[in-house]
Amino acid sequence: MKAALFTAFRAPITVEEVPDPACPRDGAVVRVMACGVCRSDHHAWTGLDPDVEAPHVAGHEFAGLVEETGPDCRRWQKGDRVTAPFILACGECGDCRGGDPTVCNHQHVVGFSGWGAFAERLAVPHADFNLVRLPDALGHAEAAGMGCRVTTSFRALVDRARVMPGEWVAVHGCGGVGLAAIMIAAAIGARAVAIDINPDALAMARALGAELTLDARGVGDVGQAVRDLTGGGAHVSLDGLGVTETFHNSVRSLRKLGRHVQIGMPLGKHASPSVPLLESVYSRQISILGTRGIAASRFGALLALIEAGRLDVAKLITRRIGLDEVGAAIAAMDGYAGVGITVADRIP
Ligand SMILES: [Zn+2]
Ligand SMILES: [Zn+2]
Repeated sequence: MKAALFTAFRAPITVEEVPDPACPRDGAVVRVMACGVCRSDHHAWTGLDPDVEAPHVAGHEFAGLVEETGPDCRRWQKGDRVTAPFILACGECGDCRGGDPTVCNHQHVVGFSGWGAFAERLAVPHADFNLVRLPDALGHAEAAGMGCRVTTSFRALVDRARVMPGEWVAVHGCGGVGLAAIMIAAAIGARAVAIDINPDALAMARALGAELTLDARGVGDVGQAVRDLTGGGAHVSLDGLGVTETFHNSVRSLRKLGRHVQIGMPLGKHASPSVPLLESVYSRQISILGTRGIAASRFGALLALIEAGRLDVAKLITRRIGLDEVGAAIAAMDGYAGVGITVADRIP
């Protein structure tokens, strides 16, 4: 099969002929029809993500068709339209059985701990547990554009922060995951305030449902500015970047008893920021929540919002490319790579 491969960190990503994946006994091989391009792929390519070893094929936001199933796979048949969370879990351990597969100790992370979906085919282990059926109305590109950023934001707001209608949600960083969070906040009746330093991202945030926007350039105290805008602070605030400055801004922008959710992956020098324990966590009783991925079982609630017309994922997709353009799209993330989500939907 063809796959977009790099042989060393930061080496050019080129489309090469590689062996087809073997089908696991309880798994499926999916013919990839579309795969989103994400900043996490850039982390994989640069070697910043500790799970990745070169040579490597990235890509974790896929949708496609079941092409083959193993003898122990019962739920799926050739031709079924599917996606999956990027954290593929074992389905058997206590965490999985308890409904928390995103913390499964036996997890396989598509495009990180193994080769990913910038390829014609992808093997998915434990397919009965991990694969998700796509509604007929949702196209492959839109489904690929949904994961991981829309799914991660959905879990952050609905499952982790338990956002209520009418609450203020501050979104620090309006990349793909931040814009997705704004759409979801609006869809569930919350009031979103978008914070970024890029006017184009803020314009898109407003178009996707942000009630207020704040251009953080030249603002001395972003947290205080959000508190002023929201009459005392956001109920929930997200760091969509994983950068020390946006983490601190997010925590500072909360009202008393507010909930911070860490969505962006804090890597390198941002891995261990100081935490304002006395001022925020103790005195103002703020919660600091982590989130990563989503359970396959929670796609149903998200897909229901999409099917009901409350959430139009297509609005997030600003660029569609071929597999041969994936390398350039990932390399472009060294700098400013444009607003919205890029999806590769021409896989040979
Ligand atoms: Zn498990
Ligand atoms: Zn992603």
